[in-house]
Amino acid sequence: MKELDIEQLVADAEKCVRCGLCLSVCPTYRDSQMEIQSPRGRVLLYADQAQGLLDDPLKVLEAAYDCLECRACQTVCPNDVKPGEAAVDAKVTLQGGKPQNMLVKTALAVFHYPLLIDLANLLLVVYQSLGLQWLLRRTRLLERVGLGKLQFAESLLPGRRIRPAMRLFYPKKVEPPGKPKGTVAFFLGCVMNLIFSESSTAAVEVIRRSGWRVLIPRETTCCGAPHIEEGDWFGYKKLAQKNLDYYGRLEVDYILTDCAACGAELKGYLKHFGNDPVYGPLAARVAEKTLMFSEFVAMEGLPGSARFPFATTHQHACHACHAQGVKEQPEQVLSFATDYHPLEGSTDCCGSAGVYNLTHTEESMRILRRKMESVGRSGAEVLTVENPGCLLQLDMGARRYGPEVRVRHIAEVVLEAMKSAEGAAD
Ligand code: SF4
Ligand code: SF4
Repeated sequence: MKELDIEQLVADAEKCVRCGLCLSVCPTYRDSQMEIQSPRGRVLLYADQAQGLLDDPLKVLEAAYDCLECRACQTVCPNDVKPGEAAVDAKVTLQGGKPQNMLVKTALAVFHYPLLIDLANLLLVVYQSLGLQWLLRRTRLLERVGLGKLQFAESLLPGRRIRPAMRLFYPKKVEPPGKPKGTVAFFLGCVMNLIFSESSTAAVEVIRRSGWRVLIPRETTCCGAPHIEEGDWFGYKKLAQKNLDYYGRLEVDYILTDCAACGAELKGYLKHFGNDPVYGPLAARVAEKTLMFSEFVAMEGLPGSARFPFATTHQHACHACHAQGVKEQPEQVLSFATDYHPLEGSTDCCGSAGVYNLTHTEESMRILRRKMESVGRSGAEVLTVENPGCLLQLDMGARRYGPEVRVRHIAEVVLEAMKSAEGAAD
C-alpha cells in the first residue's frame, strides 16, 4: 500500500519557513483564524504524526478532512511546500488505504460501474420530468421528516433539465466537417456524464467543429479522484490502472477533458505510478497528451467573428488553476469571444471541494456566499467554470444567494460563440 511519505512530510515541514504567505489564501484559516486550520499548521501536524510524535491519529485525520485540498497554498508558497497533497496522503495512510465509513464505501463503489452512473442519470431525468424535484423543493418534505442533509444534497442539483447520459446516446466517434487535423479522445467524466451531459456534448461539438475527429471511448472509467480524496487508495489504484491500460496505449493526438478534477488526476497519475515499471511509461504518455478543454481551445483559437452576446465572468476550479496551472487559457478564450469581466478572488475555492459542502455545510456556505457577492460585483450575466462540482455549487449559490446569473460550463459559451460565427441557426 502507498504509505504516508514520511521523508517528504518531514522535508516539507523543514522547508516551511513560517512566512505566512499561505494564510491569506487558505479558506479554512481565513474563516477560523486558527493555526491548526492553516497550511503551515497542517504540515507540521502531519510531519509530527509521521514521526510518531502524536498519540491521537483521529485528530490528525480530522485536520486532514477539514482541509478543502484546494491547493491555493501550494500556488503561493515560495518554498514548494505541498499541504493540500499532504492532506490526501494523510487520509490514505491513516485509514490504511480504505475508508472506514460504510456510506462513503458504498458511494465510492458505484463509481467502479459506469452503468450504475448511467442508471442514476436516467432516474434523475425521470425524477425531474415527473415534477418530483419541484414537489420536494416546494414542500421541503425531506427536511420535514428529519432528512435535512438529503434535502440539502437535493438542492445541489441544477434547476435546469438534466439530459440523458452521453455514454447512453452519443456516438463513439464523430467526424469534423473537412479533412481531420488529427484525432483526439474525449474523457467522459462521471459527474459530467451523470448531470452535465449537455455541457460535455457542447465540448465535443466545439472540438469537432475545430477540425478534429473525436473518439468518445466507453472504456473510460472514473479517474479515481473521489476515491483518493477519501483515502481509498485501493479503489483509486484499480481505476487509475484501468485508465492507464487503455489511454496509455491509445493512438491519439490528445486526451481532452471538460472536468478539472479528471484533468488533474489524468496528469497526476505520474506522481503515483511514475516509478512503476509497467504503469510509469503509460502515466507519462497520458500526462503528456492530456489537456483541459479550455487549454485546447486557447491553443486552437476561435473564428475571428465568434461572439457570445452576454457579459461573462469565470471562476477557476481549484483542480484547474492550482493543481494544473490552467488559469490564463479560459480567461483568454472568454476575453476573445465575450464581454469578459474578471472575477475578484477567481482562484479562491467556491467551497464545493469534493464532498466538503456535504460534510462541512456551514463553512462551505460561508465561502459560497462570499463567492456569490464577488460574482454580483463583477456585473456578469453568465458565470462560467470548468468542473462539475463547482457547477453544482455555484448554480445553487446563484439560487440561494443571488445574483441572477446563469451558471454554465465554459464549453457551452464557446459553442454558442462558434455557432454565431458560422451563422448557424441551431
Ligand atoms: S507559504 Fe509555504 S513556507 Fe510560507 S508558511 Fe506557508 S507553507 Fe510555510
Ligand atoms: S489545500 Fe486549501 S484548505 Fe488545505 S491547507 Fe491549502 S489552502 Fe488551506
